[in-house]
Amino acid sequence: MSQENRKVLLRIRNLKQYFPLKKKGLYVKANDGIDLDIYEGEVFGLVGESGCGKSTFGRTILQLYKQTDGRTMYYGKTLDDIAPQYYLKTIKNLHKLKQEQQKALAEYEKLQKEYDALSEEQQYAKHAELDAAKKKANDDLLDICNLIGGLYILDDFSEVSKAYENNYEIALKRRKATEKLAELSAKREDMLVDKKNTSSIDRNIETLNNDIKTYDEQLVEAKKVIEEIRKPYLDNEEFKKYDAMLDNGIDLARLHYSEMRLLRRDLQIVFQDPYSSLNPRLTIGQIIAEGLMAHNIFGKNSPRMQDYILKVMDDCGLQAYFLHRFPHQFSGGQRQRISIARALAVNPKFVVCDEAVSALDVSIQSQIINLLQDLKEKQDLTYLFITHDLSVVKYISDRIGVMYLGNMVELGNSEDIFADPIHPYTVALINAIPTTDPDGQRELQILEGDIPSPVNPPSGCKFHTRCQYCTEICKQVVPEWRELKKDHFVACHHPLLKEED
Ligand code: SF4
Repeated sequence: MSQENRKVLLRIRNLKQYFPLKKKGLYVKANDGIDLDIYEGEVFGLVGESGCGKSTFGRTILQLYKQTDGRTMYYGKTLDDIAPQYYLKTIKNLHKLKQEQQKALAEYEKLQKEYDALSEEQQYAKHAELDAAKKKANDDLLDICNLIGGLYILDDFSEVSKAYENNYEIALKRRKATEKLAELSAKREDMLVDKKNTSSIDRNIETLNNDIKTYDEQLVEAKKVIEEIRKPYLDNEEFKKYDAMLDNGIDLARLHYSEMRLLRRDLQIVFQDPYSSLNPRLTIGQIIAEGLMAHNIFGKNSPRMQDYILKVMDDCGLQAYFLHRFPHQFSGGQRQRISIARALAVNPKFVVCDEAVSALDVSIQSQIINLLQDLKEKQDLTYLFITHDLSVVKYISDRIGVMYLGNMVELGNSEDIFADPIHPYTVALINAIPTTDPDGQRELQILEGDIPSPVNPPSGCKFHTRCQYCTEICKQVVPEWRELKKDHFVACHHPLLKEED
């Protein structure tokens, strides 16, 4: 399917993850401005040498680390589902945000003029500054446009603010009622097991169900009011331009801890090391049950939970009699199946597989990859599959992104990346895959030199210290991220395009 027709599940923009060092002012720039769209139902393979920042990226988009900068928009739920505090804050600050955006835009235009007047040599030095100003101007605009789309063109936001605030208040009440309902339903199951009378809890559940129905109706009304406000501007060109940016996604980077908790169920991770990621004191049944209870999918004593856990174990190729065993009683491959069962039991939408097969024997690797693929089909999952091993991602990924020292350097469909790699780093990685080709046509080439320090990365193209095609411009100017072939992006001044291209 072409990418235009696919639904974006995660839209990541300018993601930065800097870890401060003890020495003041120094940072490890693990992720240094990454843009990426991950589509619903795809397997996105992320590769690079160890230390390139790929694991940090996986954890940062799940907000296991608080991200330093940028946006991580999630579209598996809507703003109305979560009603985050930042939504209200943005609505209340529309005037201020618009002023800030205009200031940022003026600053960018001033820098652009200065830049244009410089010699090519001098422009190298100013390039990064101009880029940062452009990003700032766009970011501020996005804040408002994401929420109110074309209404950004208004001078007076009072009517708009009121309508959106009303929408927010209802959404918040609805979210709280939904959470309470899940809690009570789980409690009710436990009461049934203990043969307690559930009539009072039943009444509360009924009231909550009625409340949620009312809120749903109110939300429809609130949306109508917003649409009424927008209607008169439908023919305005400027409105249309910004209307396209109306966005109902949730910026994970701006959620509070308790808000993020509501989305944890949707966003899961399977770690590399199945030894340390499983609690040695819990049985397999307890390990899987933990997540189910934390998300109120089942009550503590629910009789249905055990059947459910057995089904999940069966789906993951684990025998029923393993239920009461402890992690140390299993092999590496089985432990990884347990980690997968734990992650998938809560029925997520997106799973980060962080070097999920790297610690396993090659013969077991393919079993686990097949299992992940089967479960993906069954549960409509989307994976971010992180690995240093290109031969692993080749078979499972729809698209592949190649990372180097905190940045994406190439991105394309899996077949294109292998058949026509464009970035010198990708070519080197592919050549480093051991080959069993009997003709021996492809020589084994190991990438030379170490990855430079992410505290003080090389200027210009970060790969220039190891690249055989490096020229003067590579040392000074950060290469632009360009789409050189359909759906195939690369950041390189001297891309390795084949002649027929
Ligand atoms: S920009 Fe230059 S140094 Fe960087 S990968 Fe391309 S050719 Fe090599």
